[in-house]
Amino acid sequence: MKTNEWISSVPVYEPGRPIEEVARELGFADVSEIIKVASNENELGPSPKAMKAMAVAATEMHRYPDGGCFYLKDKLSAKLGVKPQNLLFGSGSNELIEFLGHVYLRPGTNLVMSEGAFVVYRLIAKLFNAQAIAAPMKKFAHDLDAMLAAVTPETRMVIICNPNNPTGTIVSPTKIKEFLKKLPSHVLAVFDEAYFEFMPDETKPDLIKEIQKGRENVVVLRTFSKAYGLAGLRIGYAVGHENLIALLNRVRQPFNVNAMAMAAALAALDDDKHLAKTRTTNFQGLELFMDGFRKLGLDYVPSYANFILVKTGNGRQVFGELQKRKVIVRPMDGYGLPEWIRITVGTSAQNRAVLKALKEIL
Ligand SMILES: *Cc1c(COP(=O)(O)O)cnc(C)c1O
Repeated sequence: MKTNEWISSVPVYEPGRPIEEVARELGFADVSEIIKVASNENELGPSPKAMKAMAVAATEMHRYPDGGCFYLKDKLSAKLGVKPQNLLFGSGSNELIEFLGHVYLRPGTNLVMSEGAFVVYRLIAKLFNAQAIAAPMKKFAHDLDAMLAAVTPETRMVIICNPNNPTGTIVSPTKIKEFLKKLPSHVLAVFDEAYFEFMPDETKPDLIKEIQKGRENVVVLRTFSKAYGLAGLRIGYAVGHENLIALLNRVRQPFNVNAMAMAAALAALDDDKHLAKTRTTNFQGLELFMDGFRKLGLDYVPSYANFILVKTGNGRQVFGELQKRKVIVRPMDGYGLPEWIRITVGTSAQNRAVLKALKEIL
């Protein structure tokens, strides 16, 4: 059989380990004792308003969803100050990254990313048999000048993960402004803002404004998976110029976003209380971790997201040892950081338990 020969070299994404799988493997009877802080999920759970909306929506699950996401576009466009035509929803923002691949990539083209950024960008480049050019990082952060220098005539997009997963670093609004001034017009700037809601307000770039002004080569990706606590539902969105959104819309399956996800996201957008609590819990958790790491004499990268990178030495081994203590974190060897692990900030009790387990090991 003939296949697209490059598909067999698409790397397989390594997700955070599911709680049930770890419990089975290590023979833990009570899964509720296991702390999973490996996938940057919201440990406060989904918004209570979203849960209520889902219970109501459950009675209508024999219906196909509204593929156009009318109500959701209506609410979100008003909230962001854009037109509904500037928005597209995806089954997670990961799906939107794939849509960008469909529209912009083919063999011979490339995307520019940062060396230590989210691996999914590499996978998407490979999926379309395009090249991923990784520019070096500077102190665990995106180096926008290095990224600009990496742009070639065949570059279709530059992806900036801000805050970056897995390092938790940001690029300043000023740096972004300079970058956008210098970016060649044939290149799309993709800002992956999966952790936008966790950023301190003064660090948030206003990229929506660029889109309001009609700029065509900027797109912003956000998600309901992280701060909104709806990762299991798979829903995220893109904000961009209406021409760009119209192209992305052409590669979308008719019902790519499910009805339960739409109902939950719609309600979650109204739950300011849950979002505020999520932010506060996270800021306090980051402080607790940084303080704990300093006391343990561990290097860490100050984070602007809901996770933190810490240098434990042999990350794979520490990951294994933590797992035996019912804590699941993410080893970073896959990111070229074999001495580091990434820990998601959880509830206050979880954070303390993670620090305690870490102290025992080290
Ligand atoms: C979690 C994450 C996403 C979004 O994931 P979805 O669940 O598909 O919305 C996108 N980018 C980064 C960097 C992430 O960490």
